[in-house]
Amino acid sequence: MLELRWNPIQKRWIIIATHRQNRTYKPPKDYCPLCPTKKGGLPTEVPAEDYDIVVFENKFPSLQPVPPEITKKGFKFFKCDKARGICEVVLFTSDHDGIMSEKPLSRYIKMVKVWRDRYQELGAKDFIDYVFIFENKGEEVGVTLHHPHGQIYAYPFIPSIIEQELNSSKEYLKKEGKCLFCKTLQEEKKDGRRIIVSNDSFTALVPFYASYSYEVHIYANKHLSSFNDFSEKEEIDLAAILKTILMKFDNLFGFVLPYIMAIHQQPTNGTGREYSHFHIEFYPPYRTKDKLKYLAGSELGVGAFINDSLPEEKAQELRKTLPQEVILV
Ligand SMILES: [Zn+2]
Ligand SMILES: [Zn+2]
Ligand SMILES: [Zn+2]
Repeated sequence: MLELRWNPIQKRWIIIATHRQNRTYKPPKDYCPLCPTKKGGLPTEVPAEDYDIVVFENKFPSLQPVPPEITKKGFKFFKCDKARGICEVVLFTSDHDGIMSEKPLSRYIKMVKVWRDRYQELGAKDFIDYVFIFENKGEEVGVTLHHPHGQIYAYPFIPSIIEQELNSSKEYLKKEGKCLFCKTLQEEKKDGRRIIVSNDSFTALVPFYASYSYEVHIYANKHLSSFNDFSEKEEIDLAAILKTILMKFDNLFGFVLPYIMAIHQQPTNGTGREYSHFHIEFYPPYRTKDKLKYLAGSELGVGAFINDSLPEEKAQELRKTLPQEVILV
């Protein structure tokens, strides 16, 4: 069973994807489906002896280009729709045990170029409204395959968090004549206490209103709506600040820090150019070296996050963690 169901109360789509129950769960290292296929070994997703960066369609997709038809029988009040979309997997390296923060800047630049390419190609399809590039990293956030990889979901709708952000930005633009993200970044820079590091094109900070202890947002300094607006220098600058933040994360507690990374940018249905602003959000689940944050009553029940640390202090901690400047190689 695969379909979209509309929650009219919370105004959001839910993807019902029961076939995902059978997906690969923590296979032994020898059987990693994301490694290159070894001579005489079991076939993997990549039928090659080695690779650089690979993108392929997810075997257990939550959205499909040709989804099953839905039977609207018995539904008058409730609304459902076909789960039409595309889910892709991006392999960052062929190195199974590779640590991304140790990889050279050139790998990050390639990664950014691949993301840009996928954003444009998937976004150009008429049934795709939003291309979401993200990474779940670490068992703590439920990762089942340890090989360094990210994902891309191309949705036939605008996901609710994006819609909420864009509605706020649109409203602000109407009232104040300015992009809300540009304004927020301007205020963060004026204050300065939550800025971690920056280069010509991007600024990394712990937002004033962070909900997680080590939440980090990377904002484009200029009003770039999406990857479409990037110059070559901006691609390199994004790669450099990404690598810098990952190095800081891994140096923070001396282990590879798990996180959820979300790239937020303009929808691909043609709307929102003036009020969408390219940014990346990182959500590491650790509150301290040995304590995790769990979403509980207040967070899941009513959406009121409790952050038990001060964003100004956490930003200072991350600022002091090496490297202190944006990495150039
Ligand atoms: Zn692997
Ligand atoms: Zn802006
Ligand atoms: Zn956002």
